[in-house]
Amino acid sequence: MTKDELWQLVLGELELSLSKASFDTWFKNTFIAALENEQVIIGVPNLFTQAWFEKKYHELIIKTLKKITNNQVKNIIYKIETQKISLRLAENQTTEKKVGDIEQGVSDQGLMAINNFGGLNPKYTFDKFVVGKNNELAHAAAMAVADKPGLIYNPLFIYGGVGLGKTHLLQAVGHVVFQKTKNVKILYTTTEKFTNDFVQAIRSGKTKSFQDKYRDVDLLIMDDVQFMEGKGQTQEQFFHTFNDLYQKNKQIIISSDRPPKAIPTIEDRLRSRFECGMIADISAPDIETRIAIIEAKLIEKAYKLEDEIINLIATSIQSNIRELEGAINRIIAHHELKKEKPTMETVKPIISSLVNLPRKGSITPKIIMETVAEYFNIAITDIIGACRKKELVVPRQIIMFLMREELSSSFPYIGSELGGRDHTTAMHAHNKIKNQILDDEKLKQDIILLKQKIFNLA
Ligand code: ADP
Ligand code: MG
Repeated sequence: MTKDELWQLVLGELELSLSKASFDTWFKNTFIAALENEQVIIGVPNLFTQAWFEKKYHELIIKTLKKITNNQVKNIIYKIETQKISLRLAENQTTEKKVGDIEQGVSDQGLMAINNFGGLNPKYTFDKFVVGKNNELAHAAAMAVADKPGLIYNPLFIYGGVGLGKTHLLQAVGHVVFQKTKNVKILYTTTEKFTNDFVQAIRSGKTKSFQDKYRDVDLLIMDDVQFMEGKGQTQEQFFHTFNDLYQKNKQIIISSDRPPKAIPTIEDRLRSRFECGMIADISAPDIETRIAIIEAKLIEKAYKLEDEIINLIATSIQSNIRELEGAINRIIAHHELKKEKPTMETVKPIISSLVNLPRKGSITPKIIMETVAEYFNIAITDIIGACRKKELVVPRQIIMFLMREELSSSFPYIGSELGGRDHTTAMHAHNKIKNQILDDEKLKQDIILLKQKIFNLA
């Protein structure tokens, strides 16, 4: 077996045990650089991948290697080897930087250039970004891109729900690139701005200058690309812009609230462009991450809150970091104004006014059922009924899954709430959905959206 064959076998195994996003992000551009006795040297493209492999994937990789080689491999070294890739990229670097001609601030056409920090929020930097399980993949991919724009992950596509830090991460990359490289041209824009700009350009007959503007950059950041849905002409423009930049090895970073697959009306050719790079998701933060974020924001604002209060905020606001920040701001403003020290008693009403407390406690099976029924546009009577059509079975299983996850209901209880089904049916449903969301993006998104709706109702 050659080195390459061995690595292909390993990759084949790994692909099965990892999500597509993780696999694509980390294992592209890796190879076995050397096989020496019992040691394997794996070539990785950059420092981040190296650190990540050592920290996160080492166990999995060595286990897989041992399995395939019948325990012949005893040790792995991860070595940064970019030879293969950097050769190709080196040619393009000569044409990369242009001196002068820097965009300043926000242009009249609504195009935002951030070469002077004008368009970038100075707060959105990596050091202010709290890394948790929910965003570690996206964060690491963003760091890697910031380290070597255009060279590793192109495009970088980050997706996740509202207020979970997409814009923050995108701009953090902009900051790093801006600081590192003199006269680099960075363009941060939202899809809305891009669309408006394009419409303006058509109206005033200046499509050529519109095109030049977007194509003459080293880094293009396109935020909230889901808004291109259904806008054929804008998509077409972006497609050409994308191709142009991509061919020149200019970095493109895109954000969306959904993965490319789940944006139904986007053209296939654009979707396949999005999918050809790195896709990383950000999900809702878990309780530890929420607490860490609150603590970080408090340090930033030089304000103190008791642990008990931090906990209250973290348990009340679960699915949106922007809301979390809003709550902190509200609490600080309120108490500074009144010159009071915050206590549980004074904080509770403020949080209640933002969300209905207590959130988890007031979620009921009924809320879950109604939300899921409405989401899939089916009747509750059908869900609890006996029909086994696929359109009903999946929502039914999702309800059972959510009841277990969000209410910790017992399986017999779940079965009885769903039209007197057996507890094994509930167990099976829970298991099935739990496993399926690991690699079914659409389902995963459905569950995230459903949870958001359920928490808002509760
Ligand atoms: P999105 O673009 O996904 O809607 P934003 O990037 O605008 O979300 O984030 C919303 C707010 O939450 C911002 O103020 C951002 O700084 C903050 N935020 C999001 N994620 C984090 C994080 N991991 N650590 C610190 N702050 C965060
Ligand atoms: Mg955003």
